[in-house]
Amino acid sequence: MTAAVPERPAGGPRILVGQLWQESHSFNPQPTGLADFTVELGDRLVAANREAGSALGGLLRAGEAAGVAWLPVLAARARPGGPVEEPLFAGFLEAFLEAARRERPDAVCLELHGALLTTARDDPEGDLLAALRAALGPAVPIAAALDLHADLTPAMVAAADLLVAYKTNPHADMAETGARTMSLLLDRLAGRLAPVRALVKLPFLTRGNDETGRGPLHDLHALARRSGERRPALRDVSICNVNPFVDAPGAGQAVLVTADGDARTAEAVARDLAERLWAARDLFVERLPSVEETLARVRTERDRRPFVLGDQGDRVLAGAPGDSPALLRALLDCAPDLRAALPIVDPEAVARCTAAGEGATLGLEVGGRITPGFAPLAVEGRVERLGPGRFVNRGPYMAGVPVELGDTAVLAVGQVRVLLTSRAGLVQDPEAYESHGILLKDLDLLVAKSANHYKLSFAGLATPVTVDSPGLSRFAPRELPFAKARPLHPIDAVDPLPLAVSLFS
Ligand SMILES: [Zn+2]
Repeated sequence: MTAAVPERPAGGPRILVGQLWQESHSFNPQPTGLADFTVELGDRLVAANREAGSALGGLLRAGEAAGVAWLPVLAARARPGGPVEEPLFAGFLEAFLEAARRERPDAVCLELHGALLTTARDDPEGDLLAALRAALGPAVPIAAALDLHADLTPAMVAAADLLVAYKTNPHADMAETGARTMSLLLDRLAGRLAPVRALVKLPFLTRGNDETGRGPLHDLHALARRSGERRPALRDVSICNVNPFVDAPGAGQAVLVTADGDARTAEAVARDLAERLWAARDLFVERLPSVEETLARVRTERDRRPFVLGDQGDRVLAGAPGDSPALLRALLDCAPDLRAALPIVDPEAVARCTAAGEGATLGLEVGGRITPGFAPLAVEGRVERLGPGRFVNRGPYMAGVPVELGDTAVLAVGQVRVLLTSRAGLVQDPEAYESHGILLKDLDLLVAKSANHYKLSFAGLATPVTVDSPGLSRFAPRELPFAKARPLHPIDAVDPLPLAVSLFS
């Protein structure tokens, strides 16, 4: 926004702060509801998140070091999953709006995911930012930290002064991104930064091979960093790769460059990076080993056990339901000798095990009840343990974050321990297993519902291999019923050249 920042009284700026974090998968048939969210209101928000490794934690610490006076609204975060129920989102939006109108803050600083959908909206975060802008007028700076997988929309960029995304995948710089967002916002408040932004959107989805430590994204981020070193006016380059399961109008890659008063630099850098990103569009394809191939490897490479298999097709961390029985079937069919553990979301099976009690042996069907195209798998097993499904992530990915899987049952099926959970949850952390009495030292392999982030949390503990498994989070856009986001490469023939660069000031 171009309007001058009004003078404020002595003392730190009063900043409205909050978090709304969920990554939506358009094709997960289960909407995300209140029970899936962890919510902190008012002052609890600051106390609960001050030490967190999230962007919110990072921005809180940076703001406190600068003497910011917080106006905390709410922090709400849920694991990735189906779109958020619209009335729930509308309530969150109203809480932010009501606080903005009441408090008249000097600025707003939020942590958003950027790829949240609701059961009724395609750009809820754009709506939230626009509503805050309308309530506060053009002079109050609005900033947000975003996930690298945000679906950055022109409406979001138009409504905010500063949007800053993570630079790493797996995401190792969440807190740093929050701190950076706050630092830019403080510069804006102090008159040291007049942000102009250049946005380019590209109509394609990545299909894996999108880690920032290697491959095309590594090179692109290195170039972005070098651009920043050479051009002092450049204040941030965010390359958002969009959760590849967002079916919303205009969904696709985004390059957002923020410069201090220098639109030409912002535009030139955004255009250059976006052209390179488009040229690399077919390099973002992961060639993953098959499940059978990987099980054979686990059998032969004994000294590298335990292995941790990333279940590409059914990644709860990408919003899939987590109910796939595919790896269990493969283990029972092809590798009954391997000592394995894997999670399956199935509240009905948990209820059956609970009714039977610990120590009971029973025949039942597990998994395959939620994901379209899957079917339950009939097994016979012994109920080893029942529990409440609560644990705290060891990290480093999401370290310290509590996880609720609902009631759980550990069912021993041959050599496989099936961790049956009532709810989908984040099971990319060793503690998901060890808190249920399933120890890594007793296993040849285990399964994480993640393709990248689990590698951070299992580093040094297990050999990671992401496998080509079926499900809603397979990197295979042609297999999914995309409609709103089209035309979209690689489903459609689409050519965005010459690129359109949108400028915002
Ligand atoms: Zn992400």
